[in-house]
Parts: sequence; C-alpha cells; structure tokens
Amino acid sequence: MYLEVKDLIKYYGEDGSRVQVLKGVNCSVEKGQICVLLGPSGSGKSTLLNIIGGIEEIDKGDIIVDGKSIVNMNKKQVSLYRRNNLGFVFQFYNLIPNLSVKENIEVCEYLSKTPLDIDDLIKTLGLWEHKDKFPNQLSGGQQQRCAIGRALVKNPGILLCDEPTGALDYNTSKEILELIEKVNQKYKNTIIIVTHNDAIKNMAHKVLKLRDGKITKQYENETIMRAKELEW
Ligand code: ADP
Ligand code: MG
Repeated sequence: MYLEVKDLIKYYGEDGSRVQVLKGVNCSVEKGQICVLLGPSGSGKSTLLNIIGGIEEIDKGDIIVDGKSIVNMNKKQVSLYRRNNLGFVFQFYNLIPNLSVKENIEVCEYLSKTPLDIDDLIKTLGLWEHKDKFPNQLSGGQQQRCAIGRALVKNPGILLCDEPTGALDYNTSKEILELIEKVNQKYKNTIIIVTHNDAIKNMAHKVLKLRDGKITKQYENETIMRAKELEW
C-alpha cells in the first residue's frame, strides 16, 4: 500500500474549546490510484488532506507513505517530505499575479532534481497558447490548469486536490476533472481529490467517504467512469 492512515485522531483548540475533528480514521490508497474523498462540509476532509500533506500535526495514529511513517519527522524532514513527494491544488488557484502562466509553473521547477519538461507539461495542460498571459487574463478554468501545472512540475508522487472544482461551473469542472484523469494516466501520480460532489466518485479507482471525522465507507470501483461521462 502506498499511503496508509492508521487510527488517526486529530483535535483542534485548547482545553474547554477542544474538539475532536478526526476520530480514528483508517484508510489506504494504492500507488497510481485516483482517490476521491467525499463528505459533507465540516466532516474533516481538508484536515485529513492537510495531515497527509504534512501541513497539520496529529494527536494520535500513524501515516505511512511509501513505507515510511511521516508522523515523527522533525521540521526539516517534513519539509523534505513535502518537497519530494507532494503537489497541492486548491479551490482558489493562488497563482502569483505578476508572473505569466509559464513563470508561475517555473517557480516550482527548481524544487525537483527531475522536473517534468515544462513545454510538454504546458501543452498537456492545454495552455500552450496562453503561456505568456498573466492570471488576470485567464478564465477560472485556465487558472486552475496553471495551478495544476505548478503542482505537477516537480513530478510529485502524490497530488492533493482540495475542492479543485469548487469555484468552477459545470462544464469547466468537467474539463478540470478530465485534465486530472489525463495527468494520472500520463504521469502516474497518486491523486487524492477532496470534494462534496458525489458524482465525482464515479471516476475514482478508490472512494473514501468521511462523515463527522470517521470513514463510513471505503471501496474500489469495479467500473471507472471517464470524467467526460460524469453528470450531476
Ligand atoms: P471539510 O474540509 O470537510 O469541510 P475541515 O477539515 O475543514 O472540513 O473541518 C473539520 C472541522 O474542523 C470543522 O468543524 C472545522 O470548523 C474545524 N476546523 C478546521 N480547521 C480548524 C482550525 N484551524 N481550528 C479549529 N477548528 C478547525
Ligand atoms: Mg474543506
């Protein structure tokens, strides 16, 4: 198993206002899978994603990535883990406004000893004719494509996407999901997509359902729908 989460417990807050947000989460994802993490707002999806991403600390349990526990790492080790293994995509693209598409992607290129070929990546993203534009000259979908490129250029083992279509309309959402599918096939990254859109589960190899800090369902899809065919 490439990614394993074991008996994970996470609290937020101190003393009187202390709340348990993750209540013993167990789940796993295999290398190269697209995993869709579903759950209502407030169920702990982003918290779980950020813990896997080494952004949040945990109270109890273990996370094993590629055979190694990431739980008791020091700051330096966590930062190397993130640099070497992870790419992040968020709902709001967080691009640097005064850099072009190409430059926004190049910003992360130096983080890797084995970056992807930038021009080929930009073509894969469908942004070739937009590569010299600035973020405010792009549509939301194009900005998200660029953000995906920035996360991918260092060729991370894991791509974490937190509500990647949350700010996009139906057609643009589907285009972004098609891009994620294409990226998974081309670069073989393990991809976790957090969403509250139930339909997206049909394009996943693995589905995790989270409710109130607990995994209520976990299964592999027998038939996987193409992103293009999804409807909601
Ligand atoms: P989701 O992504 O599924 O909407 P989150 O993981 O963001 O859920 O949040 C789960 C719960 O944890 C929510 O009740 C939220 O209010 C709480 N929470 C999230 N982040 C913090 C924080 N930094 N401090 C305190 N509570 C938080
Ligand atoms: Mg969230």
